[in-house]
This record gives sequence, C-alpha cells and structure tokens, in this order.
Amino acid sequence: MEKKMRFPVYAQIIAGVILGVVCGIVLPEYSAAGGFLGTLFLKLLKMLIIPLIFSSIVMGVVSTASASSFGRLGLKTLVYYISTSLMAILTGQLFVNLLKPGIGTHLHAAVRAAPTTTFSIKDIFLNMVPDNIFSAMANGNVLPVIFFALLAGFFIGVLGDKPRQTLTDLMDAIYQLMMKITGFVIFLAPVGIFGLIYKTVASTGAAVFGNLMFYFFTVLAGLAVHFFITLPLLFYIFTRQNPYRFMKQMIAPLITAFSTSSSSATLPLTIETIEKEAGVSNRVAGFVLPLGATINMDGTALYECAAVIFIAQAYGIHLTMGQQVVVVVTALLVSIGAAGIPMAGLVMMTVILKAVPLPLEGIGLIIAVDRFLDMFRTATNVFSDSTGARIIDHSEQKRLGKEEEGLEASPPSAQRPQRKEQREF
Ligand code: ASP
Repeated sequence: MEKKMRFPVYAQIIAGVILGVVCGIVLPEYSAAGGFLGTLFLKLLKMLIIPLIFSSIVMGVVSTASASSFGRLGLKTLVYYISTSLMAILTGQLFVNLLKPGIGTHLHAAVRAAPTTTFSIKDIFLNMVPDNIFSAMANGNVLPVIFFALLAGFFIGVLGDKPRQTLTDLMDAIYQLMMKITGFVIFLAPVGIFGLIYKTVASTGAAVFGNLMFYFFTVLAGLAVHFFITLPLLFYIFTRQNPYRFMKQMIAPLITAFSTSSSSATLPLTIETIEKEAGVSNRVAGFVLPLGATINMDGTALYECAAVIFIAQAYGIHLTMGQQVVVVVTALLVSIGAAGIPMAGLVMMTVILKAVPLPLEGIGLIIAVDRFLDMFRTATNVFSDSTGARIIDHSEQKRLGKEEEGLEASPPSAQRPQRKEQREF
C-alpha cells in the first residue's frame, strides 16, 4: 500500500534526514526540540524489542517442521554470520594496514578519558545465559532473551497437542500484535529521524575530528567496501537478483539504523520492511533478523579490528602476525557479544586490547569520533542482517520448491510432514 503513496515512507525519511541536517546547521539553538522528538521515537522502537524478539524467535523455531530443518536454518544463519563478519574484519585489517592512519597521530592531543568498564571473553559466553529471564527482559538484555526463546521454541515443539497449540497461538498473536504496532511506529519514523539528525548535527562541530580525520575516513572506506561491494556481491551470487534494488527496498531501516545507532531499536522496522518490501517469509525474517541484530555485526567487527590496529600504530607498537590473528579472532567474538545499542562496540574493545595486549587508554584516543562511526557501522550491521535473511530465504524457497516437486512425483504416503506438527524428541 505504502508503495502506491505519492510520497512513500522512504522518501519521507530521506526528507527528514535532509531537514535535520539543515536545521542542525541553521538553527542549532532549537535542537532540544529535535532531541525530544528523536528520543520519543527511539523509546517507541525500544518498547517493541523484547516482546518482538521473544515471540518471533519462538515462532521461527516452532514453525520449523523438524529438528533437522531447524538445524539446517540455524546452520545457514551461523555460516553466513560468521563468514561475513570475517570478511568485514579482513577488509578493516587491510585498509588500516595499508593506509596506516595511526602513524604520526599526536597522542596527547587526542586522548580523552576512556570508559572504565572491562569485559572478558568468558563474560561474553556467561552473559548469554540468563540468571532470571524476567530480569533479562526487564533490563533489555537481548542475548539471554534469545537464548531462552530458542529453548522455549524448541521445547514447545515437544509438548503435547493442547499446551503446544495454546503456546503457539499465544506467541503468534503477540508477534502479530508487535508487527501491527511497528506499522504504526513507522509512520512516525520521518519525524523521529529528523529529530535525531537535528540533535546530532547541532551538537557536533568539525573540530571533534581533529587529527582523527584520517582514521575516520579509513574506517569509513572499509565500511563502504563491505556495504557497497562485498555484501551486494554475495547477494548477487546467491540470489541472482539486483542487490542495489534490494538496498533501496531496505532504505527505511538503513536510515533508521544510521540515525539511531542501534540495530536492536531498528529491528522492528527491519522485519516489517523485509517482509513487505522484499517478500522475505515470516519464518526466516522472524528467526534470522533478531539473531542477526544481536550477534551479526559486520560493521562493528570491521571497526573493532581497524580501531585496535590504529591504536597500536598511534602508540608506535608493532603488531606481530600472531597478534594480528588475535585481533581478528577477538574482533569476531566481540562483535558477537556486543549489544545492538549505541557505542557498544567501543566499550567491548577492551576485550581485544587486553588480549593483544595494548594500553586500555587507547580507547580514549578514538572516542571523539566513535559516535559518528557508530552510525555508519550500525547501518552496515543492519544491511548484513537483511542481506543474510534474503539469501537464506531464497535458498529455503528453492529447497521447498524442490521438495514439492519431489512430492508431486511420489506417492501420498511419502508426503511432507505438516508444519507445527509435534517434534520428535
Ligand atoms: N551501535 C552498534 C549496533 O547497534 C553496535 C556498536 O558497534 O556499537 O549495531
């Protein structure tokens, strides 16, 4: 329906961005009003995240006919997520080693107070399992909620007929309700995005870049290659369709990711848009995207790797091959463990700095431009999740088509089991 409107939502969103930039430059003194609108929009999105993630993942798992097809979907998702994150990391590594933006950085001029929180790799895994599912939900801790939802979806499938049906219907109803509310929130996106951009432009001057300009553009170049070349190429190889058309279809969530710097807050829009605009099935979108918003962060992974090597260069520390491998592996883990919220990547960087090891204060060096890079890396994160969902949906459809062809050729007794049928355990 939106497509036929004279001024479609994506055009309204682009208009919101342009107006936000103009107002931020011309009328910075009124930016508080923009901040108010932006925060309101962000809160509306955030209020949907937990019920949406929980119900969509449970439904994704429940609606998978058998443990083996669930395993197949899960495996495809993980293989895509890990391989694209690695590609992103290697791109970041290549750019920062070639351009060497850290050499000659005037350390003391740039250093600011670094965040004090430190994580370890062990914590990333421990944090996946909730102590208390209700407190995880109340605090918006997405990873433990996903863990519980995966288990719940799987075990709902092994319950008896009545409880299985009741819980499936309940989850389905919650999911549909969340999508309806998302549809309403999308109408407010242009105004919310206008507010967020207005506030950001008004509160930041060019001076913030200082001698980090070269670093900023190095990371940006890496992100651009991943966003405009690597992911579209993968999209084309697996679907044989035009990736840039798909990018245009996903413009609303991409701009929302850019202006909110939060993959999790963007999730409701990503699901809604990919189903409506790109025709991805509910089963795949509902499973692949919530997982992706939490564990698949190509932009963050690329940025972590580039930033850590930049810090080493700025301190004049030569990294051996072994240490560069440590950076790559820990950048991958950190991107999996980072939450889909603003500046999560920066805080998690301590894990890599400790593993190499490099001075933790190095974070203070890059903090000034982190908020901007966050906008670009979050858009990259969301585009990778969306590309993954589209590719996986394409391969699932193909498989389904083949199965159906096989069924037509085989006797009725060999028919495929119905979805939502009780799973063997
Ligand atoms: N803001 C990013 C996201 O939500 C995470 C990060 O890199 O800080 O995807």
